[in-house]
Amino acid sequence: MVYKILTNYVYTGATVGHRRKSAGVGSRKSIPQDQADWIVVEGMHEAIVSKEEFEMAQEVIRGGVKKPKRNPHYYPLKGLVCCGNCKRALTRRKNRNVSGYFYQCTHSMNDRDTECPVGERYSEAWLENAAYNAIGQMLALAEKKAMKNHEISKRRKSAISECADTIRDLQKQSEQLKAVKLRLYEKYTSGSITKAEYLKRKAETDAKMSENEEAIRKGHERMQELDSEHPCSDERLNTVLGEYQRNEGLTYELAHALIDAIYVRGQDSIEIVWKFKDIFEDMEGKE
Ligand SMILES: [Zn+2]
Repeated sequence: MVYKILTNYVYTGATVGHRRKSAGVGSRKSIPQDQADWIVVEGMHEAIVSKEEFEMAQEVIRGGVKKPKRNPHYYPLKGLVCCGNCKRALTRRKNRNVSGYFYQCTHSMNDRDTECPVGERYSEAWLENAAYNAIGQMLALAEKKAMKNHEISKRRKSAISECADTIRDLQKQSEQLKAVKLRLYEKYTSGSITKAEYLKRKAETDAKMSENEEAIRKGHERMQELDSEHPCSDERLNTVLGEYQRNEGLTYELAHALIDAIYVRGQDSIEIVWKFKDIFEDMEGKE
């Protein structure tokens, strides 16, 4: 039972759903796709086993190897490599004479007018290496951004407390000015200052008070501004960064945590579609 729990991803709080595809025209039977097509929704219910515990258990069950073993069914780029032209998945095949695999667009093989690179073979080792390098660069950028965000949020916090102090001081001054006005009135009614003197000093105090009220209003405005600046959360990123630093190579988990698709455009050209698009967009927008 414990083994079952430790090997079942659902117990980590993720819900796994099978995406089913029709077996063919006229067929009512549906066939389960392989696990790459599973729909995993994390955090759907409370986890019995934490994700970390789950992963640790997997390692122990697999034999406690530090460097993740290549799982033949979960090779790193499974389901990610697509043709840059027709956008369909490339077919993965074993090399006959040399070791390793290659990818090829086989969809348009019988199509005369195709722009697809029919016959071209793209080495899996090259693609994995390129993806791994790109992940490293992406994470380095993202880490820089996270540090910057941290710096910004630190500055923001001190600006907020400074602003709060200023407002408090101004409010104290307002109270003092009210007291001044009251004393002036008392002096005037008791006859220790003339009416002209009283009116003159009252006008001065009123001017100071309205100046003060204006400063308080501006202070509140600034506070609202500071409150509306939301530094983005680094949490998601840190999880992936940890994964990257832990592993010594490209794994299925790492690739699928970050990459949506890889479009192969030529022997030395690929386009990676990231899952963390917002990180890049943000960075491009600000720098
Ligand atoms: Zn194609």
